[in-house]
Formats: sequence, C-alpha cells, structure tokens
Amino acid sequence: MVLQASRIETEAAETGHERDLFEVAVEQFEIAAEVLGLDDDMRRILGHCQKELTVNFPVEMDDGSVQVFTGHRVQHNSVPGPTKGGIRFHQDVTLAEVKALAMWMTWKCAVVGLPYGGAKGGVTVNPKLLSQNELQNLTRRYTTEISMMIGPNKDIPAPDVNTNPQIMAWLLDTYSMNVGYSVPGVVTGKPLVLGGSEGRSEATGRGCVYAIEEAARARGMDLTTSRTVVQGFGNAGSVAAWLMGEMGSPVVAISDSRGGVYNPTGLDLATVTAHKRRTGSVVGCKDAEPVSNDDLLTLPCEILIPAAMENQITGENAGEIRATVIAEAANGPTTPEADAILFDRGVFVLPDIFANAGGVTVSYFEWVQALQAFPWTEQEVNDRLRRIMSRAFLAVYETSERHGVHMRTAALVRAIARVAEFTRLRGIYP
Ligand code: NAD
Repeated sequence: MVLQASRIETEAAETGHERDLFEVAVEQFEIAAEVLGLDDDMRRILGHCQKELTVNFPVEMDDGSVQVFTGHRVQHNSVPGPTKGGIRFHQDVTLAEVKALAMWMTWKCAVVGLPYGGAKGGVTVNPKLLSQNELQNLTRRYTTEISMMIGPNKDIPAPDVNTNPQIMAWLLDTYSMNVGYSVPGVVTGKPLVLGGSEGRSEATGRGCVYAIEEAARARGMDLTTSRTVVQGFGNAGSVAAWLMGEMGSPVVAISDSRGGVYNPTGLDLATVTAHKRRTGSVVGCKDAEPVSNDDLLTLPCEILIPAAMENQITGENAGEIRATVIAEAANGPTTPEADAILFDRGVFVLPDIFANAGGVTVSYFEWVQALQAFPWTEQEVNDRLRRIMSRAFLAVYETSERHGVHMRTAALVRAIARVAEFTRLRGIYP
C-alpha cells in the first residue's frame, strides 16, 4: 500500500504533472482494487464515470447585464440504484472535481449500504458575489439545464458547499414547474415544511461525531480529555464542533475561508458562533489568538476534523500533523501521499467516504419519507443514523485489521466489492 502511494508520488514528481482530483480518486480506487484482486474488466467499468454533462448558461444580473456560467452534473455509477450527490457552488469547481466527488459518492453510499449510486453537481461561481435574486435565477436555470439527468427515481441532488435548503427549494420548484406537478422526492436537504427531514441539516456533522465516538471506543480514547481542531465552520464543521463540545471535548481551534482562531484551553463555541453570525467570519473572535489555516492543521490536538475543501493534508504537511485521529467531514481533504505518511506514523484516519456519510444517509431517510409521505421524528432519524454509522465502522475496522491496510483503503475495499457484485449480477447490457 505504502509502496504504491510512494510510486504515485514519484511519478507525479518525475512528470511534473500535478494530478487533478479525479486522478486522485482513481488512484485510491486502484490501490483498493489491488487489495481486492479486482479483475481488469471490472476496474475499467468502475474506474469511469457513466455520464458527464457540462452546461454553459446565461443569467441576467440585477444591473441588466448578462453573465454566462459553467456547471456540471456527473453520474459515476447507477448500477446500485438511482444516483445521489450534492450540488456545489464555488469559484474553483471543475469537471475533474465533480467527477471525483461523484465517484466518492458511489463508494460512500456503498460503505453505509444505501441503495444508491454516486453523482455530483457544481457551478463555477462565487455565490457570495451574487444577490439573492441572481442566486435564484442561477439555480433555476442550472436546474433546467440538468433536468434531463435528475428525477426522484433517477438522480437526486442535495446541498454541498455554498448550497442550502433555500437553494434546494428553488431546485424542487423549478423541476416541479417543468414537469407540471410537485415532486418533493427530486431533492433532499430541502426545508422541513417542503418535506425535508428532521435532523438533515445536522446529519453530516452528527454522523462524523458518531464515527469519532466509535473510533474512540475501538482505540480506548477518552473524548472528554481529547482536544478537537476543526477546519471549516459551515454546515458540517460547525455541527461537528458543537457536538464534540457537548461531549466534553475542548474545541481548541476553528477556521473558515478567511482564517482561524485558537485557544489552547478551549474556545467558547457560543462566542465563536455569535461572532461568525455578526461579522461573517470566526476571525477576530475574542478570547482567542489568530491562526492561519495551514498552521491550524498542525496544532497540538487529539482529534482533527477537516470540514472545508479538498487537498488540505498533503505530502508536505502530513509529517507534522499532531492529531491521533483525523475525521474527514470534508470530501477529499487528504492526498494519497499523505495517507501513506499518516498510516506509517500511526495516525488513525476516518476517511471521508465513511466519516461524512451521515449527510447522504439522512438524505436517504428524507427520500424514503418523501416517497412514503410519512415523516419520522428527529429521535428516530438520529437513532437510525447512529446504528448505520456504528455498523459501518465495525465492518470497515475489521477489514482494515484483516488486510493490514488503512481505513480509507478498507472502506474502499468494502464499497468496491459491493458495487462490483451488483455489476456482476446485473451483467453487461446488451
Ligand atoms: P459550507 O459551505 O457550509 O461550509 C464550508 C466552510 O469551509 C465555510 O466555513 C468556509 O468558510 C470554509 N472554507 C472554505 N474554504 C476554506 C479554506 N480554504 N480553509 C478553511 N476553511 C475554508 O459547506 P459544507 O456543506 O459544510 O461542506 C464542507 C465539506 O463537507 C465539503 O468538502 C463537502 O463536500 C463536505 N460534505 C458536506 C455534506 C453536507 O451535507 N453539507 C455532506 C458530505 C460532505
């Protein structure tokens, strides 16, 4: 495993070619496929995305000018069932990133046993520069452009970076207007009154903390004396920070895109949250010292939760990480080179396709509730989520011990084996 990751690093250095995120996803897949002894035909099938759509569409801005935006929707694999995956609005969105995220969604759904394949969508835009009216126009036009791909039995979007329940409501409305009747099952992460699920908005952070509790139990850690550092204070990161705090863990550092704050004895989360609400950032919060996003990753702590963007823990900084457990609330925060270094150093990584699967799991609950028109209580949602996360942890942990591989490869081995079995049983059409 470590040898393979090193080879990848050497090849990248030799060719001077910086790998895009989809190449990283394929490399992780190949490493796990090797452990699994997957045949070449199956590798070719699962190593590709089935459908990739790129759309360039105009939006009229408030000042009367017109801007053209580029968006994507990618379905990696629809063999296990309808495809599922969030929509991201971010200035750095690329097709390669969306493909990687779609592939990871396939594995994520398989790790926790959901009847879905993986998909992802994104628009290259900084939504913070748009008015609400422009954001709504962009969302509605993008939805119309990708509407031939989505549907409640086909491909079901959800929120991701910079998208939220309001944006999901516009998506639901646009799709419903286009087909002529209301289709609440076309999207998850929508507002409660429109058929959203209790517990959905906290699900990613909550599932991540359930994963951390399982890891602590397996490795004999006391969370009340374990310091937590969280990178990213949005949907996933803020909930994870609050729940870690509620369990008694001192949350010593938090950051967002503008920078971070650090207090070695523990931040007051109510103060940080109020400061962020008032100023738009955690930066400058009282009773804390400033810390850069780079330095935040290497602060002394036991639990590190990357909950922002990809490629944060790399071959460059993995040797300096001081956490004993990394729980990946974000997608793709750790490169394959960093994985090998962390594994050698005994850092226990809860990989994204398991650690942040709480979001898609409660999205699945929301979809089931919408199809049955029968809502569950928050307690039912959280109890079912905990059972699924616990079961998945034990299965992945057992696989990692059995094969002597790190948790990412173990999670991938389980996920790929499941999707490969579906593919074999269904056969190749025609
Ligand atoms: P969000 O937009 O709510 O929050 C993102 C946070 O990261 C913000 O606080 C932002 O300021 C911060 N950020 C952005 N760039 C940063 C940087 N370079 N350094 C530090 N902080 C930075 O998004 P989210 O929904 O919380 O998603 C965060 C991560 O979690 C993403 O990788 C996403 O794919 C993943 N994820 C989210 C969900 C979900 O249900 N929302 C589910 C699974 C995975």
